[in-house]
Amino acid sequence: RIVIAGSANMDLVGVAPRLPRPGETVLGDEFLMMAGGKGANQAIAAARAGGETVFLGAIGSDAFGVNLNARLNGSGVDMRHVRTTYGASGVAVIMVDRDGENSILVAPGANNAFVRLTPAEEAAIAAGDVLLCQQEIPVDTVVAAARAARAGGTRMILNAAPARALPDELLANIDLLVVNEGEALAVTGGDHIDVPGLLALVPRVVLTLGGRGSRYADREGRDETVPAFSVEVRDTTAAGDAFTGALAVAWGEGRDLVEAVRWANAAGAACVRRLGASDALPTRAQIDEVFQQ
Ligand code: ADP
Repeated sequence: RIVIAGSANMDLVGVAPRLPRPGETVLGDEFLMMAGGKGANQAIAAARAGGETVFLGAIGSDAFGVNLNARLNGSGVDMRHVRTTYGASGVAVIMVDRDGENSILVAPGANNAFVRLTPAEEAAIAAGDVLLCQQEIPVDTVVAAARAARAGGTRMILNAAPARALPDELLANIDLLVVNEGEALAVTGGDHIDVPGLLALVPRVVLTLGGRGSRYADREGRDETVPAFSVEVRDTTAAGDAFTGALAVAWGEGRDLVEAVRWANAAGAACVRRLGASDALPTRAQIDEVFQQ
């Protein structure tokens, strides 16, 4: 069982021939609404990848909250512990032009009210095989979730996205850190990727390398780069979320981490083949199809 404590946003996506300049109005082509936020995306990714998935987080008392709940439920995510807080849900207002260039404004809304874990939330974390967090919720909540995972014997994965400072107490309770190259630089500082530096902070690291695949390293001395699956790329949005959700599922199933990373690469590749964000997250069958190619 995978427990994800993180953000949920409604993505409001408008597509136009070009992005408007400040003060300008542009007549667009179409409008789409979908679930977003790294927490919700990775929960959907894990559920589609075949994991029993529990989401912990906060959604607002507005219509977007009702809609988000329905979308995540419909993807097979267990939403029974999700808080509904008075006020607005998290919303991302996204403008996309015909070349795929975008401008994004995020209003975190209810995500900022996801503070002070309840005993029921802590129990849900303790009952999981793996806890997966990202960094779009208040840092103290991630610290508390990691503490609950340690106390409950649940393995903790932190996807340090977006990058921000990692408190010592959080670092001490991370079993596996997942970062892309930009985030890796932000965690250690400096101007080159420093895997030994990351391993000085946490026992295991997965570094995603985009179209080059990913690298697994741990304190036992393993260090393996696992090449990406070659697919026709349409849209790289949410590749990291597909990868991380699938990685959590594979590790939760007890697979060896290098094998888990290889399978997660297949999930990332299956995602970049399709247009869209959470709606492009692959099912287990789609992941296995790429994995076996
Ligand atoms: P993020 O989106 O967080 O920056 P990456 O771009 O590193 O993350 O992508 C995450 C994973 O998705 C990669 O490790 C890889 O397995 C897969 N992936 C990303 N881009 C491609 C690509 N062009 N071809 C195949 N796989 C890809």
